[in-house]
Amino acid sequence: MASSGTPGTPGNAQLAEPATPAPSAPGFAPWLRLRTVIDLLLGMHRVDFQAASRFVGLKYSSSWWPVKWLRFTWWALRQLLVRIPSSARYLTIAPHVSRTPMWLIDPNPHANHPWANDPSAQLCDEVDAVVIGAGFTGAAVAYHWARRTGDRGDEAPTLAVIEMDDPASGSSGRNEGLVVMGRYYAMVHDTVLHHLHRVRTDLDEDARTRLAGQFAEAYSRSAYRNAEMIERVIREEGFDCDYHRAGWVQAAEPGGEGALERSTAMAKERGFEDWTRIDRDEAGRRSGMCLDNAAGFSIGAASWHPAKWVWCLMTAALARPNVKLYTRTRVVRVEDAGECYRVHTARGTIRARHVVCATESYTPALHPQFHDLIEPLQEQAACGEGGPERMPPYIGLSAAWFFGGRYGKRVLFGSGGPRRADDEAGRNDPSRFLSRFVGAELARYYGPYRLEMTNEWSGTVSYTPDEYPIVGVFDGKRQHIIGGMAGSGSGVSFNAGRCVVNRVLGLTDEPDDYPHAYFGPQRLLDPGGHTWPEVE
Ligand SMILES: Cc1cc2nc3c(=O)[nH]c(=O)nc-3n(C[C@H](O)[C@H](O)[C@H](O)COP(=O)(O)OP(=O)(O)OC[C@H]3O[C@@H](n4cnc5c(N)ncnc54)[C@H](O)[C@@H]3O)c2cc1C
Repeated sequence: MASSGTPGTPGNAQLAEPATPAPSAPGFAPWLRLRTVIDLLLGMHRVDFQAASRFVGLKYSSSWWPVKWLRFTWWALRQLLVRIPSSARYLTIAPHVSRTPMWLIDPNPHANHPWANDPSAQLCDEVDAVVIGAGFTGAAVAYHWARRTGDRGDEAPTLAVIEMDDPASGSSGRNEGLVVMGRYYAMVHDTVLHHLHRVRTDLDEDARTRLAGQFAEAYSRSAYRNAEMIERVIREEGFDCDYHRAGWVQAAEPGGEGALERSTAMAKERGFEDWTRIDRDEAGRRSGMCLDNAAGFSIGAASWHPAKWVWCLMTAALARPNVKLYTRTRVVRVEDAGECYRVHTARGTIRARHVVCATESYTPALHPQFHDLIEPLQEQAACGEGGPERMPPYIGLSAAWFFGGRYGKRVLFGSGGPRRADDEAGRNDPSRFLSRFVGAELARYYGPYRLEMTNEWSGTVSYTPDEYPIVGVFDGKRQHIIGGMAGSGSGVSFNAGRCVVNRVLGLTDEPDDYPHAYFGPQRLLDPGGHTWPEVE
C-alpha cells in the first residue's frame, strides 16, 4: 500500500493507532455508512487486492504468514466497516470521477507536437542524439542540450526527443507536486547496505557499512545541488510553474521517534543539514496536522506544478532549432548498428550516435535486461476542492501511509500501491479503497473536513534493488540511462540530465555529480564486473 521512500510514503513505518481519535459520526445516517461499504465492495478489482498484498508484506513483514493474513483481515475489516464509513461524510465522491491527473487538467502546450501545427511533418532521418521520453528526465536532457549547444549556430549538434504520448503524460504529470531534496541520507544508507549484503559478500560488515555511507553521501551531494539548480533556473528563466519553497513535514508514528532521531543525526553528522526533526508543536503549526509526536522536516523541499515544469523546459529547449520533439510516437526498438543506433518508432526510424533512455518505470518494457532491476510500482493520487481548513498551501505533507498538499483551491492526497508488471507501467488504474483509506487518514490527522473528490489517477514510479538511481551508459557504448529514482524523480532528474548531456557532448567544464562507481548501471547489470568505489 505504501512504497518505502517515495515522497509521500517514506519508510516502512508501522501503521499505528490514530494520533487523535478518528472523528466519531454520531447522527451519521446508517444507510449512508452501509452504502459506502457496499459501493466499496462492489467496486473492488485486481489493483485493490494487489495493494492489499503489498500492504501485508510491508506492515506485517515479521509475522508468520497465517498470522500476517489474520492480522491484516482484522485491520481491513475495521477500515471497511468502521473508519472508512465514518469518514465518508467528509470525503464525498463526485458523480463522475475523472481519471485526468490534477496537473493535466491544464492545457498541454506541446500536445501532439509537431503534428498539431504541421500535420505533414516527418521524423528527421538522423540526429546526434535521441532521448526517449519527455517527462522530468527527457525534458531536462533537452533543456541542458539546448543550453550547452544553442550558441553554436548551424554547427550545433542535434537532439530529437521522442515521446509516445504527450510531454509530462507519465509520472511527471501525475505526481504529488513536491520538489524533493532527494531521499534522506539514512534512508539511502540503509537500502544500499541491505543490498550490499547480497552483492559484496567479499567485504566485512564494517567495510560494507562504510561503503553504504559513501553511497549516501554521493547521492545527497548530487541531490542538494539538483535542488539549488532547479530553483536558480526557475528564477533566471522566469518559468511559470507555481514554485514555492515551503518545506515538507513528515509525521512520525509512535515508535518511529528513535528512527527519526537516528536519521536526522546521521545526516547532520555528514554535513547534510536539510533533513531535520521538529517537535510536535512546530510540526502542528507548519502542517496544521494534529500530532502526538515529533516530525521529520525537509527544510529545502518545495512544491510546484510538475507538468508546467516539464512544459517550460521543453519550451526553452524547442526555442533552439537544433532540438526537435516528436510526440505520440512510440519507440519500439533500439538497434545497435555499430557507429550509430537505429531508433525504430511507430512512425519510422531515426539514426543517432547517442541514445538517452528517459523512460523510468517504462524501461523494462523497452529494454528487457532491466526486468527486476527497474521495478514499476504503482502510486496513486486524487483531488478535489475543499479539504481540511487547517491544511496550509504549498507545503509538503505526509505520514506513514499517505501524502497530501493544498494547491490553490484543490487538495491532493494519495498513497503508494502494488508492484506492476513491466508491460503495465504507466497504467492509470487507481484503487478506490486506497483513496477512501487516505480520506480516513486525513480525518485522523485533521479532524472533520469537506472535500468532493473529482479526479483520481495512478502512475508508476521505479525502484532498483538498492533503491539507488542509475545514471550512465548501460551497453558499454553510447546508450545512456537515467532511472530507478525511487519515487523521487524531482531530486535526481535535472542534475543527472545535465551530467549526461555534458558526457555526450564531451564537455568537462562543469562538475559531474554521478560518478560511474556509484551510479553506473553495471552496478546492477553485472555487480561482479562492476568497478566499485574504494572503501574509504
Ligand atoms: C502518485 C505519484 C506521486 C509522486 N510524487 C512525487 C513527488 O512529489 N516528488 C517527486 O520527486 N516524485 C514524485 N513521484 C515520482 C515522479 O513522478 C517520478 O520520479 C518522475 O516523474 C520520473 O520522471 P521521468 O521523466 O523519469 O519519468 P516519466 O515522467 O514516467 O516519463 C517517462 C516518459 O517516457 C515515455 N515513454 C515510455 N516508453 C516510451 C517509448 N517506448 N517510446 C516513447 N516514449 C516512451 C512515457 O510516455 C513518459 O512520458 C510521484 C509519482 C507518482 C505516480
